Amino acid sequence: MRAVSVTAGVPNSLRLEDDHPEPATEEGAILVEALAVGICGTDHEIIAGEFGIAPPGTDSLVMGHESLGQVLEDPTGTLQPGDLVAGIVRHPDPVPCTNCAVGEWDMCRNGQYTEHGIKMLPGFARDRWRVQPRFAVGLDPALTDVGMLLEPTSVVAKAWDHIERIGHRAEWKPQTVLVTGAGPVGLLAALLASQRGLVVHVLDRATSGPKPELVAALGATYHAVPVNQLDIEPDIVIEATGAPTVVLDVMCKAAPTGIVCLAGVSSGGRTMDFDAGALNRALVLENNVVFGSVNANRRHWDLAAQALARADRTWLGSLITRRVPVSGYAEAYTPTPDDIKVVLDFTA
Ligand code: BGC
Repeated sequence: MRAVSVTAGVPNSLRLEDDHPEPATEEGAILVEALAVGICGTDHEIIAGEFGIAPPGTDSLVMGHESLGQVLEDPTGTLQPGDLVAGIVRHPDPVPCTNCAVGEWDMCRNGQYTEHGIKMLPGFARDRWRVQPRFAVGLDPALTDVGMLLEPTSVVAKAWDHIERIGHRAEWKPQTVLVTGAGPVGLLAALLASQRGLVVHVLDRATSGPKPELVAALGATYHAVPVNQLDIEPDIVIEATGAPTVVLDVMCKAAPTGIVCLAGVSSGGRTMDFDAGALNRALVLENNVVFGSVNANRRHWDLAAQALARADRTWLGSLITRRVPVSGYAEAYTPTPDDIKVVLDFTA
């Protein structure tokens, strides 16, 4: 069968294998036929050789952590043949740490977790894959064209879950949300904000292309100006650019008792002058919280599946700016400026 893989740690080793072995039964009882795989910045880091670890005993890593497939067989009866399914990315560490022990692998404390298509587990960019029932998430059948958005949605469902837990440390009636970055994570974070009935602002650099319209379709306001020119005081900020200046600016922008969730991964290596004392003073005197958020556990995947089922399918479909057949994998993994979400199509 076909699989898109890399030699982990070796830049530009991306390849399409035609004779990849069928998934091992130990991978899980549920056999799935791949429909699509979404591509994100983490995949580009893996292709650049900057990230990613192959499974033990091999240097080859199958790509793909944003999965969508159709169940071929499930002897456990958890799902039915034909059901839409996505595989949870992260598995708990084997120790396990206190969090992994209770299914909160997204909060793993010892770093020994594994991740499909990223860290020591084969990814989903192959014709067939297997999954254990506890890592299989069923999707509404209407999501056939857009269900590969479940993984990035799980990431923002976790961010929202933690924002709400932090918010309830005191009386909390948030009204205004600022999302920085109108890529898939930012737009899906804005979708979940609009589903919560909040006033939503989205900031991005783009002045043309589909982003302004996608934001407007959520009933949100689009801004293409620097953060410090915004005339709002957000109760909640979800930062999804990872751009150092934006990260620092949003920390200063939040309203008193505001919560800033950092969900974008910066590349590091760039230093800048910054008044850390002034930031500390502002955070302390205003009871603000800044926290980082990555990955998602089962609860968040289920919340994400509900959020996608409630969302406008046409809007979700507009996030997918390119669908590329597997044979065009090299093109699919080459970013272009107009991309929001690029999807590798296993049905073509
Ligand atoms: C994935 C997360 C993963 C993170 C770090 C992201 O692209 O969405 O699930 O935990 O990369 O590996």
